[in-house]
Amino acid sequence: MSESVAADRVAREFRQLYGAGPEGVWAAPGRVNLIGEYTDFNDGFVMPLALPHTTVAAVSRRSDTVLRLHSADVPQGVVQLDAAGLAPRSDSGWAAYPAGVVWALREAGHPVGGADIHLASTVPTGAGLSSSAALEVVTALALNELYGLGLSGAELAVLAQRAENDFVGVPCGVMDQMASACCTHGHALYLDTRDLSQRQVPFDLAAQGLQLLVVDTRVKHALGDGAYAERRAGCEAGARALGVGALRDVPYEELGAALGRLAGESENVRRYVRHVVSDDHRVEQVIALLDAGDVRAVGPVLVEGHASLRDDLRVSCPELDLVVTAAMAAGALGARMTGGGFGGSAIVLVEESDADATAKAVTEAFATAGHMSPRIFPAIPSRGAHRLR
Ligand code: ADP
Ligand code: MG
Repeated sequence: MSESVAADRVAREFRQLYGAGPEGVWAAPGRVNLIGEYTDFNDGFVMPLALPHTTVAAVSRRSDTVLRLHSADVPQGVVQLDAAGLAPRSDSGWAAYPAGVVWALREAGHPVGGADIHLASTVPTGAGLSSSAALEVVTALALNELYGLGLSGAELAVLAQRAENDFVGVPCGVMDQMASACCTHGHALYLDTRDLSQRQVPFDLAAQGLQLLVVDTRVKHALGDGAYAERRAGCEAGARALGVGALRDVPYEELGAALGRLAGESENVRRYVRHVVSDDHRVEQVIALLDAGDVRAVGPVLVEGHASLRDDLRVSCPELDLVVTAAMAAGALGARMTGGGFGGSAIVLVEESDADATAKAVTEAFATAGHMSPRIFPAIPSRGAHRLR
């Protein structure tokens, strides 16, 4: 669906719901992360790109503090809340994400009152493609413009992260929101999650005759939630034991020595430290390769990243491992899981001419293994959040 068709649809549905047309329509994308996983809560580096899939929201201000929220993707009527009386973790289901953004903006002292919101999304939910960040960022951008707050994309991303962490209660890093807010067409976003400094790195796959496939395994293993908190705690323990503010401060050249100094820590802490420090290094490697125009050479770095997530961080699963082995056996240049793991999605770098055959090989491997058929589509590096009308 083109953006203008999506905007028409959402504006029309808005009018049907609320009795008048919206003041504006905005879009914010989902993302995949090229490299740098579980690094963003270690002050490290990440490299996401925005997908063409977006959450589109039609929004109007209100003169009172009533918040009316509706999603075309949820079989539930309008959720009505009071912007002036929002309480963190009050469990309003999906509506907690946009309500949390209103809460975070108001907590930060911004003069945001009521709003009517209706949205629809093409970002698959729960597939590790950050439909939650798309929902938060589109809400934040709309309110920023309607209420004239003048906040930058990075400032909106930080407030959206606060909404997810403190209002919804999900302990995520800032990568997803920064990607949805700040990515640009034809680029990957090199982001330093310590100071949020960023650089748009040209990632023009089509010009190179390449494709980056997203393989959504359509599974989500229950293990994920507790595992994330445990990895995070382990990384913090590692940083404490090494006397650094965050694992980002351990230079890759000193990784061996650092692991030696962690002899008294658990095996898990050592593994987590090895993953984070080496994945930060892999981000630097990928940057250097992309700057040199050597996109094909990124492939092996992706495979190394996957092995590290599988063997050291242990956040992969049979379905994600199968994407990598089947794609590589079919001649892909590289592949790895992306996002938090335990299901969700993987990415595969392929020659454009091999894309269909690779997708077929992965689908067949899933059928042979008795897994659900995966959903496969190309990740076209797309623009971040923007106004449609
Ligand atoms: P991911 O961000 O990887 O897609 P999450 O579990 O973080 O997965 O976020 C998914 C949740 O975000 C959904 O369960 C729902 O509550 C909310 N959400 C995302 N997109 C929409 C949408 N279009 N409409 C309503 N809720 C949505
Ligand atoms: Mg999410």
